[in-house]
Amino acid sequence: MPDLGQLEEDIVTANRILADHNVVDSFGHVAVRHPDNPARFLMSRARAPACIELDDIMEFTLDGKVVGREPGKPYSERFIHGAIFEARPEILAVVHNHSPNVVPFSVVKTQCFCAIMHMAAPIGRDVPNWDIRDKFGDATNLLVTNMDMARDLAKSLGSRTVALMRGHGCVVVGRSLREVVFTSIYTEINAQMLGKALALGEVTYLSDGEIAANTKGRAGFTLERGWENWCRSVGRPYHPRAMDTGPGFSRTDN
Ligand code: MN
Repeated sequence: MPDLGQLEEDIVTANRILADHNVVDSFGHVAVRHPDNPARFLMSRARAPACIELDDIMEFTLDGKVVGREPGKPYSERFIHGAIFEARPEILAVVHNHSPNVVPFSVVKTQCFCAIMHMAAPIGRDVPNWDIRDKFGDATNLLVTNMDMARDLAKSLGSRTVALMRGHGCVVVGRSLREVVFTSIYTEINAQMLGKALALGEVTYLSDGEIAANTKGRAGFTLERGWENWCRSVGRPYHPRAMDTGPGFSRTDN
């Protein structure tokens, strides 16, 4: 686990990378669990991801209360992150976005949003589509603005990597900031490709075995390769991390 200072630099970088890939626009956010206190998380103040600076980062309890300095208004949907960190101890980073090619799949409930391309394998074959209306009625603005809503969303996500949010966007989770950025980018790319494939004909989705094999191989070396390239694209410094972490490294490299 990186130290706090390095992690805060990485939060800025993650926001810039996600904005550069149109996974987030002026809206959407990324949170990381506090490296020294699993009951806290770190996230920017409410600001467009491409504009975020180090001084914008704030600390929160898992139920979304601000701890310490408050450089500005917090994101109204910060509860999403807290509820997922609360439900999933192994998860260290969460992205919420309005990924433009993903949203159409959230409003066509008969169409599965499943992985069709190997880089997007961690999405899996069983992506839930959470509908805020089911429990909270038709008078919400679709935003997740309290813990009750956020815990309901986290319950729908269950043990999975991605959950769609009907008419809104999605959440993506990871065991590191690099992993959640990687999966978020390839979730948007998978949605672009799946939309095109569906227009062409019958789609072959990745099988459970293919998903398992690819997900196992999604380790240090692969994540670093993406992160280094994306740091360069957004003009942020690249600080290498362990390349040999994860069970799939030697398997995929041989
Ligand atoms: Mn949102």
